[in-house]
Amino acid sequence: MSILIKNGILVNPGGSGTADVLTTDGTVRDAGTPDVLTTDGTVRDAGTADVLITDSLVSVVSPVILNYDADRVIDAAGMYILPGGVDPHVHMHLPSEAGYSSDDFLSGSRAAIFGGTTTIIDFVTPEKGESLPVALEKRMKEAESSLADFSFHVSPVEWRSRTPDEIRECIRMGVTSFKVYMAYKNTVGIDDEDLLKVLKAVGKAGGTVTVHCEEGDEIERLRDHYFRTDPANPRSHALSRPAKLEASAVKKAIGLAAKAGCPLYIVHVSSKESLEHIRQARLNKQPLFAETCPQYLLLDDSGYSGSFEQAAGYVISPPLRTPEDNMALWEALTDGTLNTVGTDHCPFTMKQKKAGADDFRKIPGGAGGVEQRLQLLYTYGILTRRLNFNQMVNLTSTAPARIFGLQRKKGIVEAGSDADLVIWNPDAGSTISAESHHMNCDINIYEGMQVRGRAEYVIRSGRLMIENGKLATDLTPGQYLSRKV
Ligand code: MN
Ligand code: MN
Repeated sequence: MSILIKNGILVNPGGSGTADVLTTDGTVRDAGTPDVLTTDGTVRDAGTADVLITDSLVSVVSPVILNYDADRVIDAAGMYILPGGVDPHVHMHLPSEAGYSSDDFLSGSRAAIFGGTTTIIDFVTPEKGESLPVALEKRMKEAESSLADFSFHVSPVEWRSRTPDEIRECIRMGVTSFKVYMAYKNTVGIDDEDLLKVLKAVGKAGGTVTVHCEEGDEIERLRDHYFRTDPANPRSHALSRPAKLEASAVKKAIGLAAKAGCPLYIVHVSSKESLEHIRQARLNKQPLFAETCPQYLLLDDSGYSGSFEQAAGYVISPPLRTPEDNMALWEALTDGTLNTVGTDHCPFTMKQKKAGADDFRKIPGGAGGVEQRLQLLYTYGILTRRLNFNQMVNLTSTAPARIFGLQRKKGIVEAGSDADLVIWNPDAGSTISAESHHMNCDINIYEGMQVRGRAEYVIRSGRLMIENGKLATDLTPGQYLSRKV
C-alpha cells in the first residue's frame, strides 16, 4: 500500500516545515529538509509537505512524488505530520493480587494507537527461579495481539549465578534494557547489593539498566505505620511514599551505576528533589537518562482528598506530588534534565481498586494513560508554550527510540525510517472521560480535563490504523522489535 500525504507540516525533533516524504515497503526512503525551525511554542511558519508512503517505508521526496500514483492520498492541510509516538513505559496484562491490569496487549495497544503511539515498550517480570530468556519468550507470545510495535525491558528480580549469561542471552534476543525495582522487595524488588551486581553485568554486556527508585525498606515500614493509623484511606498510600525516599533512591542508584560503569535510565521521576541528583550526575558526565509521566506533570496530591472512590484511581507509585513538583518537572523537560515522557500505563478498574477498601496496601497501584500522552503534552505543554512541538516529538518519540536502540527506525521521519506516522489535527477539542476513552477501564485519572488536538490519522508500518479519528477496519498486529546495544 502506498500513501501520499499532502499539504501537512512535518515535525521532526530537529525542526519543522516543508518536506516531501515518500514511503515504500514500510520505510521512509527520503525526506526533505525542513525549511523552518521553531524555537518557542509552536510552528510559526511552514510550507506544505507531501508525504508518500508505499508499503511500510517512507522514501524520497522528490519530483517523483508529484507524479506518484499512490493508493491513497491524504490531505493534511492545517495538520502536522509527526513520527509515531514511542511509549517507553507501559504494563499491559500485568498480574497483581487484584487480578490482571485491565488492559491486555490488544486493548491497551489499541488505545495507544488512538493516541498516536505506534511503539510500546512493556516489561518482562519472571517468576522467582525462572530464567530471563524463557520469561521473555512467554511475554513475546502474550504480546502477539499488540496493534503497536513492541519491545520489552526484562527484570532480573533476583540474582543467581546464571543471571549474567541470561542477560547476554536476552541481548541476543533483542532486549537491551533491564528493569530493576528498589521498592516492592517482597515481590520483584532487589536489595542494593544485587542491584550493583545487575548493573555490573548489564554494563559489561553493553545494555542499560532502568530503575524504579524508591527506598523499599523504609516505605514498607511507613506502610505498616499508616495501616495502623489510617488503613482505609488512599491518602495513606501517598504519605507512606514521600518524595525524599524517591530522591534518596535516585541518588543511590546513580552512585551504584557510576561504580558499575552502567548507563542508567530512571523511570517515572516525580519529585523536584530527585532532579537535583540527576543534574549533579550530568555535571559529572555520567551516562544517565530520566523519564517522567504526564500524571506527575499535571496532577497533584489534592487527588487524595475525598472519598475512597474519588482517590483510589490516583493510587500509583510514586504517588502524585505537589504543584511545586509539577512546575519543577516541566522546567526539567525544557532544560534537558528529563529526557523522555512515558506513561507507566497500568490501569485497574474501580472494582479492582476496591480490593483495598479496608487496607490501602491492597489497592492495586497503577493508572491508564497510554492514550492521552500526546494530547496532554500538546495541550498543556505546547499550547501553554512550555514546550515547542519539536521538543514534544523528541520527548515522546525520538529520545525514547534513541535511548532504547530503535534510533533511525522509530522517532523520526527521514529516509530509511519506519513508516509510523501521526497526522495531528490541532483544532480538534475534547474532554477526557472514561466514558469515551478507548482504554479498558472505568477510571481515567484525567477525567474532565479539556484537551486540544487529536491523532486524525495514524499509520503504522505504512498501514492506516486510524482514519478520521476512527479505527480502520483492516488491522494488522504490530511486530516485536529486536533492539541492538
Ligand atoms: Mn514503577
Ligand atoms: Mn511501571
